[in-house]
Amino acid sequence: MIAKLAGHVGVAVFGLISFALVVLAVIIIDRLTGFNIFSFSFWVIIPAGALFTGAAAASGYYFGSLFFQTRPTWFLLVQILIVTAAAQLIIYYGEYRSLVLNDGTMASDVIGFRDYLDTYLRSMHLRAGRGAHIDTGEVGDFGYWLAVIDFVGFIVGGISVYLILQNYPSCWKCNRYLRKLTKLGQMFPDHAEFGRYYDTLFQHPVDSEHFADLMKSNPKIRKPSLDTVMIGSDLLGCTHCKTQLLTQKVQILGKKGWNDIPKLTRHVRLPDGVDLRPVVKPA
Ligand SMILES: [Zn+2]
Repeated sequence: MIAKLAGHVGVAVFGLISFALVVLAVIIIDRLTGFNIFSFSFWVIIPAGALFTGAAAASGYYFGSLFFQTRPTWFLLVQILIVTAAAQLIIYYGEYRSLVLNDGTMASDVIGFRDYLDTYLRSMHLRAGRGAHIDTGEVGDFGYWLAVIDFVGFIVGGISVYLILQNYPSCWKCNRYLRKLTKLGQMFPDHAEFGRYYDTLFQHPVDSEHFADLMKSNPKIRKPSLDTVMIGSDLLGCTHCKTQLLTQKVQILGKKGWNDIPKLTRHVRLPDGVDLRPVVKPA
């Protein structure tokens, strides 16, 4: 109970640190270069900068959760939402407090934050076209909509961190995150040969000789060509109860490169006491 609570506090601290660092970085970069990462967008409506900074601001929650072995709860989502929402205001406020006017006076000495923000949002310029050479002039009221779009992007960036954490493989017995132990790549020249391997592998007990032979089989392929199938196996393990999980992902070489085949991805829980580290390892 105490350990769990300490974990949640640790995660919150990591999250606040990453959030503070990202906000600081955005403000400093904006002051030094005039480039505001936060409000950078593609085609006006895709808030790439906000998505990116939102995810970066929430990254402390991600690493904190893995570090403290704390699975995300609804409370973590609430924290991420509050922190990302606050970050947008703090970015605006930080820029306001650090803005020096041409005559050397601090902007904050002559104008209130609300008036500053109103002017700031209305006087943003949209730039379009290659190299941003078309300037639409001041955006006026539309600046508020741009702020809303950035806000949504920022929140989505933060939520995506939460979702990644939720889907991070974890031990089904002790609810801890699994660590990657070993990995192995295998290639097959065509679908038929791959199919024989893929369909029969788990028909053998995972601790059998047949299974080990199949995992080590690696038809010689000097140069992958069209339709070569690659299967990547990751062995993950729980540091606490030593339970293992075998994950396999499949890719096929197409004309434009390797294509993932997500529907062939499989996660297989291994029986207690089975250690596949000697089997799942690079040849
Ligand atoms: Zn476990």
